[in-house]
Amino acid sequence: MESISIESLQQIRYERPVPGVARIVMSRPVVRNAQGLRMTYELDAAFSAGVRDPEVKVIILAGDDPHFSAGHDLAETGEGSWPHVGVWADFEAGGAEGRFGIETEIYLDMCERWRALSKPTIAAVQGKCIGGGLMLAWVCDLILASDDALFRDPTIAMGVMGTEYFMHPWELGTRQAKEFLMLGEWLSAAEGHRLGMVNRVVARSELQSTALLVAQAIAGKPQFAVRAAKLAINHAQDQAGRSLALRHSFAMHQLTHAGNELLTGNSLVAQGIAASVAAKASKPRTDSD
Ligand code: ZN
Repeated sequence: MESISIESLQQIRYERPVPGVARIVMSRPVVRNAQGLRMTYELDAAFSAGVRDPEVKVIILAGDDPHFSAGHDLAETGEGSWPHVGVWADFEAGGAEGRFGIETEIYLDMCERWRALSKPTIAAVQGKCIGGGLMLAWVCDLILASDDALFRDPTIAMGVMGTEYFMHPWELGTRQAKEFLMLGEWLSAAEGHRLGMVNRVVARSELQSTALLVAQAIAGKPQFAVRAAKLAINHAQDQAGRSLALRHSFAMHQLTHAGNELLTGNSLVAQGIAASVAAKASKPRTDSD
C-alpha cells in the first residue's frame, strides 16, 4: 500500500462543508462502510489533515447511508507493505506476536491516537454500528445518533471477548456493558442516550444538519479552552483507570484469539462469524416479533 494522503483517498471523503468544520465520510456503502486496512489509514490521514489545518476547528466523522459501519472488514487481509504509523512492527511474526503487533497498530493505538486528537470530534451515527464501528464512534468526543441507529458488539459469538478497543464499561456502565457483550443484542439510540453513550438523538433526516450546527457552535468558542477541556476530561477518565484497563482488556482479547487458534486453527470461531453476517442483514427484534 502506498503512503496515503488526503489527495489519494479512495474509501472515504474529506469535506469542508462549512467554515471551521471538516467532515470525514466513510464511503463504502456497498459493504456498509466496513473498515479494512486501507480505510483505517485513510481515516488516519484525514484526521491528521484536519488537525494540521488551522482553519479546521471541529471534525465530524460520518458514513454514507444506509449504515454508519458494519465493523472491521474481515474479508480484507492486507496488501503489501503498510504505511504503518505506530511503534510495533514484525507483523509477519508467528505465534501470537504477529497478530498482537497488527492489532496494536491498527486498532488499539490507532483508536488512542484518534481519541487524543487535539481538536474536538463528533460522530454522526445512523443505521447500524457494529463491532469495530463502535470503536470509530467511541473515539469521538460527542456521538450524535439518528433515532433508527442501532449498536451491537457480536464478538463473543466469534470467541473473542469484545472489540479490541474495549471501552464498553466506560461507555455503558458496568452491568449494561456485561449484558451488551454477553448477549450481543442490539442497543437502540434511545437506550444509548439513556446510558450516556449518545449525546443527542435526532431524526435521520436531521442527523447531518444537527452535526453541522453542533460543530459550528463549538467552532465559535475559544479553541484553546475547548481543547483544554477535552484533554482534561480524557485525563480524568484515564486517572480513573481507563488507560490501564484498556491495555489489560486488549491483552485478554489477544488471549482469546490465541485460545481459538490453539483449539481450532482459526483466531475466530467460525459459527460466530456466520451468525454475525446473518444478523447484519436482519432486523432487530421488537416486542411484536
Ligand atoms: Zn482482534
